[in-house]
Amino acid sequence: MENKILVANRGEIAIRVMRACRELGIPSVAVYSEADKDALFMHYADEAYFIGPAPSIESYLNIKNIIEAARKSGATAIHPGYGFLAENPNFAYACESEDINFIGPSSRVIELMGNKIVARRELQKAGVPVVPGTEGPVTNFTQAQEVAGEIGYPVIIKPSGGGGGIGMMVAHNEAELTKALDSAQSIAAATFGLAEVYIEKYLVHPRHIEFQIMADTHGNVIHLGERECSIQRRHQKLIEEAPSPALNWELRSKMGEIAVRAGKWIGYRSAGTLEFLFSEGQFYFLEANTRIQVEHPVTEMVTGVDIAKEQILVALGHPLSIEQGAVRMFGSAIECRINAEDPSHDFVPSPGKLRGYRSPGGMGVRVDSGVHPRYTIPSIYDPMISKLVTWGRDRTEAIARMKRALYEYIITGVKTNIPFHKAVMENSTFVNGELGTHFIDMEKDILLAEMERVMQREKPLDDKLAQIFEEKKRVAAMTAVAALAQMHRQADTPKYR
Ligand code: ADP
Repeated sequence: MENKILVANRGEIAIRVMRACRELGIPSVAVYSEADKDALFMHYADEAYFIGPAPSIESYLNIKNIIEAARKSGATAIHPGYGFLAENPNFAYACESEDINFIGPSSRVIELMGNKIVARRELQKAGVPVVPGTEGPVTNFTQAQEVAGEIGYPVIIKPSGGGGGIGMMVAHNEAELTKALDSAQSIAAATFGLAEVYIEKYLVHPRHIEFQIMADTHGNVIHLGERECSIQRRHQKLIEEAPSPALNWELRSKMGEIAVRAGKWIGYRSAGTLEFLFSEGQFYFLEANTRIQVEHPVTEMVTGVDIAKEQILVALGHPLSIEQGAVRMFGSAIECRINAEDPSHDFVPSPGKLRGYRSPGGMGVRVDSGVHPRYTIPSIYDPMISKLVTWGRDRTEAIARMKRALYEYIITGVKTNIPFHKAVMENSTFVNGELGTHFIDMEKDILLAEMERVMQREKPLDDKLAQIFEEKKRVAAMTAVAALAQMHRQADTPKYR
């Protein structure tokens, strides 16, 4: 039977997977909700099927409708992307039962890694170091008090079925512990349908470093090095890079070997990520993500391995196209998540119609996006516009290129977090690679001041650009774009040497 892949997702990741399909000569099928009738991804696919109303629970999370679309289209495999159903064991199980090739690990492995307590316990058996904490769930205050007494404050209470940084509560002392336990349990029950929580030692200002693994069905498991994802807001990643400025080859090999061992232990297949916290030279397993990550492009840029394509080939039964010994990390790559958000108002989402859109290009610049110049960013889904990725022979060059690309990026009609990214690229702590998960909190005043400066400087031109795009004066728009790029030179940026 001829292969055909249905992509059970939307936006940039749907296009990312469809591009891989196209390069492999495999037809792709899109599924779309009421809110995505005008979206780029559904036009990019070879076929598209409507799966329901805008709310994701009725469309992108609707297993029945997606399986039905697969049946109707004759799709032989489903790629879940990230988010939505990507880590839902019931979805993987439904595919397995319907004899549809699920492009990811088995439903058993997804379920095992989906519960963080079980994942911690299981991987400890494989010799993976975990953050000091509880063996099982914590159900009452006395138990929480005992654990906190043993591991020492501060502690973090986390939902075992959690994700997206939701429901995690830090307690610095006993008084805070009661409140933290109550909140974590009720948020966990409301968000994940499971009130179960556990306790870990809260590491102060660690780095978030994760390893990309790839596994096939022939017993091969490899790692593609690490990504540093320490720049986070509310425990959500904003800027990622590869390699991490904190690792040397010795440590990389050591952590990589542990990630591979973990993959082998659980019988992994496809692409996966082992997340670690790194503090004072020690690393601790945090959680495993059984899917392709948002930030996978930085790994692709430095290793040259097309992770989405590799996932598809592995699912079709091919062995991995690369052996561990042949994996190289060349240069440095950075990803900025470009979101429709208002940086002046605590980054509240700023969905709406794009008036003008020009993405940057040139050497070492990659833009993975799901938008088009007249696109309306729906308010019902996450407000990501694109992932802007730059590559350089070293970190300094990747940063210089990112600055250049950010100044070329023109988006009018909605507010974006581009001024924030410009401010980070200018920040000396970031430039020196001194990262940690509290980077944004610690540099807040400096970043806000720089962001204000950027926005004030660009305001007249931004207004002019919006007007030009409104009047559809393309040539004038080009001139304005050039003027904006020129501003980059006026910004007092350190010279690349
Ligand atoms: P989620 O699955 O909800 O994203 P994670 O366990 O992956 O949660 O943690 C997300 C982020 O929360 C981490 O990158 C880190 O910034 C912070 N975090 C989680 N656990 C700890 C801990 N024990 N100590 C310090 N920070 C933590």
